[in-house]
Amino acid sequence: MNASARKGCQVGTVASVVVSNSARNYDKQYDYIVPEALKEEIKPGIRVIVPFGKGNRLLEAYVFKVSDIQDCKALKEICQIIDASPVLSVNMLKLAAWMKYRYICTYSDAIKAMLPPGIGVKSLCMVRLEKTGEVRAVLKNILESLKTLNGECTFDELKALVNSRSLKKYLQELKDLGLVSTYETYSSKVGEKTMRVAYLAMSRDEVLEEIESSRIKKIQQIRILEMLIDNEYISVADIIRFSGVSRGVVETLKKHGYIDYKDIAIKRDPLKDKPVLPTSPMKPTSQQAAVIKHISCEIDKGAFSEVLLHGVTGSGKTEVYLQLIRHCLDMNRTAIALVPEISLTPQMVERFKGRFGNAVAVLHSRLSLGERYDQWRLIRDGKIKVVVGARSAVFAPLDNIGIIVIDEEHENTYKSETTPKYNAKEVARERCRDSGAILLYASATPSVESFYNSSPAEHGIQKGIRLLEMRDRANSMVMPEVELVDMRRELEEGNRTLFSRRLTEEITKNLDSKQQTILFLNKRGHSSFVLCRSCGYTVMCVNCNVSMTYHLHDDRLICHYCGYTVKNPVKCPRCQSNYIKHFGTGTQKVEEEIKKAFSNCSVLRMDMDTTTYKNSHEDILKAFREQNTGIMIGTQMIAKGHDFPNVTLVGVLAADSLLNTGDYRSSERTFQLITQVAGRAGRGLLPGRVIIQTYNTEDFSILSACSHDYHSFYKQEISVREKLNYPPFTNIATIILSGINDRMVFNAAKETKNALEAMPGAKDVMELLGPSRAPLQRIKTKYRWRILIKCGNIDRLINILSQLSDNFYKKKGNNTVGFGIDINPLNML
Ligand code: ADP
Ligand code: ZN
Ligand code: ZN
Repeated sequence: MNASARKGCQVGTVASVVVSNSARNYDKQYDYIVPEALKEEIKPGIRVIVPFGKGNRLLEAYVFKVSDIQDCKALKEICQIIDASPVLSVNMLKLAAWMKYRYICTYSDAIKAMLPPGIGVKSLCMVRLEKTGEVRAVLKNILESLKTLNGECTFDELKALVNSRSLKKYLQELKDLGLVSTYETYSSKVGEKTMRVAYLAMSRDEVLEEIESSRIKKIQQIRILEMLIDNEYISVADIIRFSGVSRGVVETLKKHGYIDYKDIAIKRDPLKDKPVLPTSPMKPTSQQAAVIKHISCEIDKGAFSEVLLHGVTGSGKTEVYLQLIRHCLDMNRTAIALVPEISLTPQMVERFKGRFGNAVAVLHSRLSLGERYDQWRLIRDGKIKVVVGARSAVFAPLDNIGIIVIDEEHENTYKSETTPKYNAKEVARERCRDSGAILLYASATPSVESFYNSSPAEHGIQKGIRLLEMRDRANSMVMPEVELVDMRRELEEGNRTLFSRRLTEEITKNLDSKQQTILFLNKRGHSSFVLCRSCGYTVMCVNCNVSMTYHLHDDRLICHYCGYTVKNPVKCPRCQSNYIKHFGTGTQKVEEEIKKAFSNCSVLRMDMDTTTYKNSHEDILKAFREQNTGIMIGTQMIAKGHDFPNVTLVGVLAADSLLNTGDYRSSERTFQLITQVAGRAGRGLLPGRVIIQTYNTEDFSILSACSHDYHSFYKQEISVREKLNYPPFTNIATIILSGINDRMVFNAAKETKNALEAMPGAKDVMELLGPSRAPLQRIKTKYRWRILIKCGNIDRLINILSQLSDNFYKKKGNNTVGFGIDINPLNML
């Protein structure tokens, strides 16, 4: 029987499948007949090959559902199966369907995010000799062959020696006798000193652009580039193995300048091989005990619920997670702890490994593809019960989850900026709901959204998220002293350097007494703002109450929300001084200045420029700790997680650059960052000091961060949000249209807006802004126009947007214009 339609079938088994890499128009479940011979093997979550479309192109597809139906005459048949066991559980299939709905992506976008990269190819089947025994001749022959291959080899190697068509059957017999075992692997060889890796030779956006504009057409090339978009470096050997392409394809990409190679030294994974001493639970403080008790009870109930743990820095949140996870394991359930990538430090990992040993897997971006695949398989097969990792660890294929912890829940790294544009917090929530688990958000500086949705229980009734607090530090260290320095005064009194006199004094003191100092600077993004150094004035948008962003290109200031623009002022509108200009100092400049101001002092710098090589992030931190370097200068990267007992002084060089990011969340981020960096000071025996330099000493987020007062920060911030209708009082979505022909993109944007306005009832629930040029007006050769939508009802918003998206793709002629939706995006660029 062939793969195309078969006639006359009455009752039959049918599989509903989703083809992978489908465009939105074909992104639905299609029914195929399950051939008699595959009936046993085809179940949900298995990948199969199906004939698709008029030309019966053979495509990879995922089985979602298997059912018996009465009449399957017109259906085609599944050709073959790819996997021996499902790569997705039924729960994960459900999750994929939810993601398709929630993030307006395709099934295969969702599934791609769930599976380890490189699962597309066959693994090596390994055979291992366990022991010898008395068996009949043909089996004995196999055992002897295995012996000559040192007791372990691939299936193919064995086959070359044994040369029997029934080898599989014989191996099964030997397995049943316990004489041999088999396993699958992808692991790369160990013992090599250097490895040739490939990386993108252009920016991620540029590469995406090349793919979207169809300048790169070959699917094999795209596959490789996509792997490199997700992974900073991949060894060339891994690329070939995982993408299933030949070396020639990789070479071609290099020749065309898309990628480049370099040889890097293979270092031991600092998070992996270090022997970790087992630790036992600490005796909880009374505040910890109360939290542990409450949440353990919730876990025992086996029903979904959400808790926000607001615990000051050093209140011992990690110990709380560890004990709760232990409780889950005791109940035979599993757990995930999500942390921002940046806080996956060796110390953090040690704490988990020390407590759970081999039951824990740590997933981070420095794992090779092979290592990641191996971890994924161990988790799927139930050999690992606890997973710690960054954003994508939320997809760990665990069953029977008891708790998901989201550490530093306010961090924006939980939101993905590439398709599917998911938020790991929302995905975690969906998974917890599905398995009756506890979702624990934790932070010293909870996001305004989470705090708004939480409340302490009243009269035993809980609405939304249950709020629990730990107000004191676990080891009774005092909170550091925070001092504010007015940089306007410095200028007035003739100090034009980057360092205030107070900060200079304190740095000198620290250098003299061999204590360490951290200087913190906000990462300079794509844009900068205009500040009057004389009076602290910054230009704000009259509509949106966010700072306006300086665009060098046309020397104007632009609001990233509504598109309102003004000319770049030459004189300060408030005080008439000439000291008004766009503001920003890079870490490199600071380093130079430091060396000038404090000769002979040792300085380390950590930012994107100094941390491009594998592991060098840890190297810098390690050097700082071990060599007792005088000063470290850094960006957001140094703000959290790290524990440096000898750091007694933290300086924030320009709090203004945190405040004026042109984003409605800038006050929130300022409060969070200052609190986090301040938390780096005084973690050892010596008390810490923090000095914050700013041109704006009145700002409430800076002031409340100085007094470690989250509640007063929150009270002011939430009222601003309410007044201006920002989240959590609404949702913000952006639609970005992009393409090479500016006019066409603009027209498409206009049409899109009209279509939005024409939707029944849409106007009543939504507020529309634009189309206006996106803040990043042009990326590579593509013009970008943006529509911004505010809508209080998330389900309405999703429905409207997915209808819009369907219509957009159905319309002919729209294939030259890119269409991207982001709901509650990280930034507005
Ligand atoms: P957080 O994550 O809330 O900032 P940590 O979990 O890093 O805090 O804990 C801060 C410090 O307090 C750590 O050095 C930790 O070992 C210590 N600690 C935590 N719980 C206890 C406890 N119950 N008894 C003694 N020390 C504790
Ligand atoms: Zn001024
Ligand atoms: Zn505006």
